[in-house]
Amino acid sequence: MSRPTFAQIDFDVLSSNLRVVRDLCPKSKVMAVVKADAYGHGAVLACKALSDADAFAVASIDEALLLRNADCTHPICILSGFGDREELELLAQYSLTPVIHSSTQLEVLSHVNLTRRIDVWVKIDSGMHRLGFPGESLPTVLQQLRAHPAIGAIRLISHLANAEDTSDHYTTAQLNAFRQSCAGHNCELSLANSAGLVAWPETHMDWVRPGIMLYGVSSLPERNAAELGLRPAMTFRSAVIAVKQLKQGDRIGYGGSWTCPEAMSVAVIACGYGDGYPRHAVSGTPVLICGRRAPVVGRISMDLLSVDLRRHQDVTVGTPAVLWGAGLPVEEVARWVGTNAYQLLCSVTARVPRI
Ligand SMILES: *Cc1c(COP(=O)(O)O)cnc(C)c1O
Repeated sequence: MSRPTFAQIDFDVLSSNLRVVRDLCPKSKVMAVVKADAYGHGAVLACKALSDADAFAVASIDEALLLRNADCTHPICILSGFGDREELELLAQYSLTPVIHSSTQLEVLSHVNLTRRIDVWVKIDSGMHRLGFPGESLPTVLQQLRAHPAIGAIRLISHLANAEDTSDHYTTAQLNAFRQSCAGHNCELSLANSAGLVAWPETHMDWVRPGIMLYGVSSLPERNAAELGLRPAMTFRSAVIAVKQLKQGDRIGYGGSWTCPEAMSVAVIACGYGDGYPRHAVSGTPVLICGRRAPVVGRISMDLLSVDLRRHQDVTVGTPAVLWGAGLPVEEVARWVGTNAYQLLCSVTARVPRI
């Protein structure tokens, strides 16, 4: 018998979430972020569902080539750019658009004669202090790039560190720093991730870069996805493969970390950390059975987890279960687990079919 565990990806939902983005920033172009296999959804099919986007963004050349080889003809931005000469030549060959964020990359660029022109994004560090040039060095960087025969359009990009927190003035400081660095250079600009897009309209500029919201997740703690018109694109599904009648005092699973307080029934579901369900999910974390929440009990195993059926009747072998998605937002599970929705979505493993 094959395992009943799969991730259902709803492509109409992806395109409807993209329309929510368009409605929020009708004047901006949209770079749909599909790195990490489209946040675990499957990048090739996600790009088909999101074909109305103006461009895609991935983390690495490998991720971009996967899309090109699947006949994706959109502009594709590589958020971490290129490492060496070979990568640079490859990205010119495949018309990919790198982010240039370091003097090491400028150095590589200055020693290569590219046969094709490439467009580039220049990254400015406006306060995230991860990748990017300090704002003051932008004039020199631009001078160098404009003198290079193979560089086409130059656009400017920066990234927000805490746009999720709508009361943090740091976002305004980053916005002002970015604006100030870019003033007078006459380039297209991009600053907003999903949280910027939803909560900080001034960050919209020429290009927005939504990731998590396309997959139906709210990045703002005070506004849920449904309120924003977003729906979850992934529903992580499995089923009950055993129902156990246990006695008071029986211990459940590895380490016996949970003990039955009374005689009760427990369902065993065919999903575990080998599928990407988080091993550190505590007892109490909700799983949806027959549309109602049932709490996890005991430790998560590699292939299995157990849930408390005391408030559920009519659960039998074969009853479907939802780990997250439709009816149980991944944000809610993430709160129980002490992580964020991004990590849970990206963690669904390769053995789980995307359907
Ligand atoms: C991942 C990423 C995004 C998308 O962020 P979300 O919070 O998922 O919207 C945008 N820009 C950059 C540079 C990123 O790395």
